[in-house]
Amino acid sequence: MSLDRALTLHRNYFRVEPKVAVFAPGRINLIGEHTDYNGGFVMPCAIDRGIWVVGRIVDGESKLISDSAGPGKPFDSANTNRKPTGWAKYPAGMAWVLSEPFGLMPNIEATVVSNLPMGSGVSSSAAMELAFAKLFQALGGFEADAKQLALLGQKCENQYVGVNCGIMDQMASACGKKNHAMCIDTRTLEIDYAPVDPSLAVVLLDTKKPRALTDSAYNERRSQCEAAAAAIGVPQLRDANLEMLLAKKSELDEVTFRRGRHVVTEDARSIAFKSALAAKDRNGIFALMKGSHDSLRDDYEVSCPELDAMVNAAWLAPGVFGARMTGAGFGGACVALVEREEVEAFCTSVLPIYKKSTGKDGEAIVCGIDDGARILS
Ligand code: ADP
Ligand code: MG
Repeated sequence: MSLDRALTLHRNYFRVEPKVAVFAPGRINLIGEHTDYNGGFVMPCAIDRGIWVVGRIVDGESKLISDSAGPGKPFDSANTNRKPTGWAKYPAGMAWVLSEPFGLMPNIEATVVSNLPMGSGVSSSAAMELAFAKLFQALGGFEADAKQLALLGQKCENQYVGVNCGIMDQMASACGKKNHAMCIDTRTLEIDYAPVDPSLAVVLLDTKKPRALTDSAYNERRSQCEAAAAAIGVPQLRDANLEMLLAKKSELDEVTFRRGRHVVTEDARSIAFKSALAAKDRNGIFALMKGSHDSLRDDYEVSCPELDAMVNAAWLAPGVFGARMTGAGFGGACVALVEREEVEAFCTSVLPIYKKSTGKDGEAIVCGIDDGARILS
């Protein structure tokens, strides 16, 4: 168990007992991709993989160790203007954002243990943010609800780490609910929890292609969405639909039009997905997830040959209800919904076909759907 690993690593590295233990999950997004920074709809689940952190308050600088990333740069919670390099930006950034509503955070000694792949589309960064939010909460005793911590995690990532992400990842890691998908309205942050039939398994299909440098492509997509919304005359694409976009087609360049078309149709698919999932409507789920992938590949242009190869194999495999790329794209993973009884046959079918077309060994991980970030002790 990873909590035990965290305790052992902490004792060996710091030669002292930690005081508290916390866990924050990663997330897998069933549908609603690249809609969260457009005020739209998403449908992630928190998964039963994530990040454990154990730690205690110390005098002097904060010190860190991670089983997967090694020692983190020391930082001082009282002087987070001196930003550490590397992964210590996540705890230092959380100390910085939490200090505004809750006062100065203490310095810490903390050990991080994770079973989430980094940069694979399951949001290890949001899990880091929420885990440290919970660690500081456990050590500092302040009151905060899950949504507030999600917003502070996003602020850390946007303003301290410097990644211009939307709110989906932090909401999923903070507010997840066991065996439920979360239909999130990213404008109001309202969550409608939708039970996932236990006969369906959520499978993460990791292409093992590391996500390529995506910052510039991501920022470009964001500006194109803003341009499309401005042309239609709405604050965000969430306020538009396909008809409204089509009416402005002649005023938009071809690429901006396609970016906008992805977002407005993806919002419609996300909303429709909720009832398809509730009814376990196999054709509906398949068509909506395939529609999402096709749109991300052709209109939004954030897929890659590996994601396409994986999803093509998944669409033909036994037991499949639906499959698509998940996460920001340009590498990372696909998500599939699969009849639980056939999950083994599904994985045995997909991975060799993926290997044959890409030369790469992918990995299939059957994910449980879990609760959000929490204090363990
Ligand atoms: P993801 O899609 O997984 O969120 P990001 O690039 O947003 O990818 O975040 C990955 C970054 O988060 C890593 O480069 C590292 O700085 C930090 N991180 C994630 N997991 C860990 C960990 N177990 N230990 C230390 N840092 C981590
Ligand atoms: Mg991330």
